[in-house]
Amino acid sequence: MRYYLPFWPADKICEKFDPSTEEKSGPTRYLWEAFSKPPTDGILVSRVNLEGHKGLAGEVEERGIHEVLRFKGTIAADCGAWGYVNERKPRYDPVETIRFYRKMGFDIGVTVDHLVVRTIEEDGKVRELTQEEKEDRCRITLENAKKSLDEFRTGPYEGMRLIGAVQGSDPESYGKALRELVDYGFDYVGLGGLARRPTQFLERTLSQLGAVLKDYAKKGGRVDLHLFGVGRESLLDLMQNVGVTSFDSASQLRDAWVSPTDNFYLGEKRYAAIRMREKHDNSEKTRFRQTLEAIESFEKGDIDGRRLVDRIVRNFPQYDPRNPRAKRVEETTHVKTERLYPTFEEKPWEKCDCPICETLGIHVCIFRMSERNMRRGFHNVYQFHKWLRSRYKRILIFTQCSQEKDESSGLMPAYRRYLPSPIFKAFWNQVYDLPVEVAVLSAKYKLIDWNQQIAYYDKKMTDKDLPAIEEDLQEKLPEYDRIYFAGLGLYREAVQKVSSSLSQPIKIFPSLSFTERDKLDIIELLKQMKNLREEVLKEIPDFRSESESQRTITEYS
Ligand SMILES: [Zn+2]
Repeated sequence: MRYYLPFWPADKICEKFDPSTEEKSGPTRYLWEAFSKPPTDGILVSRVNLEGHKGLAGEVEERGIHEVLRFKGTIAADCGAWGYVNERKPRYDPVETIRFYRKMGFDIGVTVDHLVVRTIEEDGKVRELTQEEKEDRCRITLENAKKSLDEFRTGPYEGMRLIGAVQGSDPESYGKALRELVDYGFDYVGLGGLARRPTQFLERTLSQLGAVLKDYAKKGGRVDLHLFGVGRESLLDLMQNVGVTSFDSASQLRDAWVSPTDNFYLGEKRYAAIRMREKHDNSEKTRFRQTLEAIESFEKGDIDGRRLVDRIVRNFPQYDPRNPRAKRVEETTHVKTERLYPTFEEKPWEKCDCPICETLGIHVCIFRMSERNMRRGFHNVYQFHKWLRSRYKRILIFTQCSQEKDESSGLMPAYRRYLPSPIFKAFWNQVYDLPVEVAVLSAKYKLIDWNQQIAYYDKKMTDKDLPAIEEDLQEKLPEYDRIYFAGLGLYREAVQKVSSSLSQPIKIFPSLSFTERDKLDIIELLKQMKNLREEVLKEIPDFRSESESQRTITEYS
């Protein structure tokens, strides 16, 4: 599963920040620039945000989204349906929107949807949506998706992927809508409007989706699934089993300052940050200085964590819910002192290996100023991503492109372009239904996702292409925990070379360990596609137990 971080223009830190003087300097940095390796598999940008931020949309139009955000990985775009949830119709036209995505340089575009919610605000009043209105919003979302796919199939969208957005009012309607889009030809579908639903609703919806995907896999089809705004840890097992391939979630970042007590992540543990309100008057300044002295004593070991907490709370009473001057939600949340003790008794920042904890130390657990709070959010994303990867490996299987291709003009998903090749078909038959990432390596396009749109081309791999191919692999492969490759010749050479520099070597097929012959040729390649599958299945034992037994019957040839 890929984890995408939703982008907000203001989520930045200054390069330098001194917590004792609270002075900041240097250029601003996005989350992915604050770590040596970005703790996210991609970024999700909303059109509403891009256009709502002065000058940003123009800058992106001129220089492209990758350049402006200084991020090389996948950048997806949706239209930000929360921004017009109270309006009768979506703010954007579906066809114009995917042209907009193309113009801005996005890798993935999400079709224009309209949220199905319980209540909306109209003329300053809150009212419930009628059942008819809810169904209408689902219908608009589906119609927009279909119009977008029609445009996508015939327009200049080379290298892009399109996510068909789905909305539903109950688990069954989500399942029905997914089926409708898959039948229409979508190979990537995203489910919206789930972020605020109870966990039970999500569990029921996920099992509906799982049934649809299984049905489709039986017919030889593969669909990627994205969940918008859902990254609940309790649901990830189920998401993985159902076949969710990507999700986005901002809650790890926002918990740093929005959650009353779960402000600092360490693995699965959560700690409360201690609040020191900024008042900028003399009394506040004195109290802040006194607190810094207390922190110094704590760091020297002269006072323990509890004493430190007591002193800070005395200087800065934690926010009182009855405070009539409280302006924001977090200011009305009263955090009990006992809840703060573990943070300073266990010193979780000392157990984190991220550069933020290393440089900010104890101040990462202090709730004061955006420079501290945003850094704590960045750290949370780092911890979440690390935890996610430790539990759910990112597995990639890829093969090389073939000379035989579908010669139709226009664009089509990579796997369909290569299916006329018997070698590619043998590969595809063994991998299309696996809950892992599948890609193709080509001399023209380099490493691309299985459903990326490509044109017909006739380019044979030569020695001259090797450096560029290797460079591309060097950049993309370190993201993965396990990698499998099936191929021969120059492509195999490139893969072998890159493999030696990775922390996890690539398992390359055909392999001498699966044959008695002393030759690795096309016969061996075709034969060992089955071995490739067997090896991958060892990494995903849950998948095997459920569906592998039926495969011999349903396998298509
Ligand atoms: Zn950290």
